[in-house]
Amino acid sequence: MKPYGDCVYCGGEIEEKKQRIDYRFHGQLYILENVPTGVCCQCGEQYFTARIAKKMEAAVSKARGKLTTIPVPVISVG
Ligand SMILES: [Zn+2]
Repeated sequence: MKPYGDCVYCGGEIEEKKQRIDYRFHGQLYILENVPTGVCCQCGEQYFTARIAKKMEAAVSKARGKLTTIPVPVISVG
């Protein structure tokens, strides 16, 4: 069974890869590593299963307040 189905945008096949994900939680940006992510082979759209989405939220909730923070430059284009 394919956990992600086909891409809703282009119908391409979706492969699971461990990705680094930008994740927003309560207005704060976090970078999560080693997230199992469905990635479309054709257009690159990313998908998460409900289980992984819950896992990401739980991991961020648990880690808040005891994190290493690095500066991230923010650049406006246009
Ligand atoms: Zn696609």
